[in-house]
Amino acid sequence: MASSTQLLPQSQRLNDDAVSVAVVGGGAAGLTAAIAAAEILLKEQAPGRVIVLDGAKQLGAKILVSGGGRCNVTHDVVTPKDFCGNRNIIRNVLAAFPVDRTIAWFASLGIDLKREPTGKLFPTTDTARTVLNALLNRARHVEVTICPDHRVREISRSGSGFRVHHTHGSIQAARVILAAGGQSLPRTGSDGFGYQLAQALGHRVTPTAPALVPLVLEQSMFHATLSGLSHEVQLTTVVEGREADRRTGSLLWTHFGISGPVVMDASRFWTVATNRGAQADLYGNFTPSRTPDELKTWLTVQATEHPKRSLAKTLALLAPERFAYSLCVYCSCDPLKAHAQVSRMDRNRLLDALTKFRFPIRQDRGWNFAEVTAGGVPLDEIDYRSMESKVAPKLYLTGEMLDCDGRIGGFNFQWAWTTGWLAGRSAAKSLLADNITSRDS
Ligand SMILES: Cc1cc2nc3c(=O)[nH]c(=O)nc-3n(C[C@H](O)[C@H](O)[C@H](O)COP(=O)(O)OP(=O)(O)OC[C@H]3O[C@@H](n4cnc5c(N)ncnc54)[C@H](O)[C@@H]3O)c2cc1C
Repeated sequence: MASSTQLLPQSQRLNDDAVSVAVVGGGAAGLTAAIAAAEILLKEQAPGRVIVLDGAKQLGAKILVSGGGRCNVTHDVVTPKDFCGNRNIIRNVLAAFPVDRTIAWFASLGIDLKREPTGKLFPTTDTARTVLNALLNRARHVEVTICPDHRVREISRSGSGFRVHHTHGSIQAARVILAAGGQSLPRTGSDGFGYQLAQALGHRVTPTAPALVPLVLEQSMFHATLSGLSHEVQLTTVVEGREADRRTGSLLWTHFGISGPVVMDASRFWTVATNRGAQADLYGNFTPSRTPDELKTWLTVQATEHPKRSLAKTLALLAPERFAYSLCVYCSCDPLKAHAQVSRMDRNRLLDALTKFRFPIRQDRGWNFAEVTAGGVPLDEIDYRSMESKVAPKLYLTGEMLDCDGRIGGFNFQWAWTTGWLAGRSAAKSLLADNITSRDS
């Protein structure tokens, strides 16, 4: 590839050209796919050419903002249970490029990862920029042509490959890898248009909803007064009367409602159900280590042993005092009243609020605050061994575009690296099998 390939300066416009692999989208999945494809072609000394077309002027915006600017690259244990989607297919896909290979691959890019107590892996530099730079450097090193400000508008079948129409013209490509992301954080360039590209080539797209997204509560709630406070809560999502999800973790009260890891992870069960018009309710148990019966007994014992202690001070033994105070007021109980003087009715109401508090959710916080997209191109339309489309041969799909979303902790990037790596390698290998060069595609 080396001798016949020209590297386009980023400022130059790509037009009327023929390439072997066109990658649409230069985020985590797209850059990985391009690198994987180019490495194979380079190794085999094949005269192919790999390009990345991205609509954004600056690539990798989402990598840069990820993990609070530190980029949570992956997690030390990744299983299909960490994702929503077709778990059989997810298992097979993950097996192709698991965490240990991901860690080794990043080390080969010059990025060492460190494990934090939560199991999340970050670059030792603690800077997302180093991750993006390493990917871009490797892409250039293996002679990937990177074209920022080249938004793809249409992809059509043409000859034995595809015609890819972008903002400055069009190119012919023997293989196309779609890596245009989902709908989360649209200002980064991922605005859901990739789904239209996939649909135009024959794919279905399951309804999408913001995932890993904070939730906005009714104004009547006390969240704003607790803004900044976080504590351990068990959240249960009930959809049409059936439990859809249950998880425990840190909940953060904010000026608009609730956020924090447990809320972000639970949110997709609420948004997906609500978006399809189903009744969805989110319940909080603020004393997750005790059953309601244990809590009832505990409150009775406290009333006997410390009858004069105020209600708020008693509840503060279970949860942060500011929260306990607000919850009492919300339940129309005087937080300063001596515990022993609280009526049975009030105590039962508080007990319910502590263990099965129905959050009055107004809405989710929307795509601008969602970290990923639930829904997308169904995984059963993809060959999991190669990420090649079963609907449109020679087309490959990767990353957030697919109907698969992970929980917080590095799982979504792992999905992007894995699917990108698999698609890039498979596209290049299928080119080699067809003996296609850049000029005869
Ligand atoms: C604030 C935030 C923090 C996050 N933190 C983490 C984290 O720490 N760990 C983790 O695992 N996950 C994290 N995520 C999720 C993670 O960023 C995504 O799962 C991942 O970036 C998806 O990669 P992708 O390549 O599929 O899509 P994207 O990263 O969205 O890349 C898609 C690319 O395609 C381009 N594009 C779109 N349409 C077109 C078009 N028509 N033509 C050309 N180009 C196009 C876009 O400009 C973009 O560059 C975070 C997300 C957000 C929003």
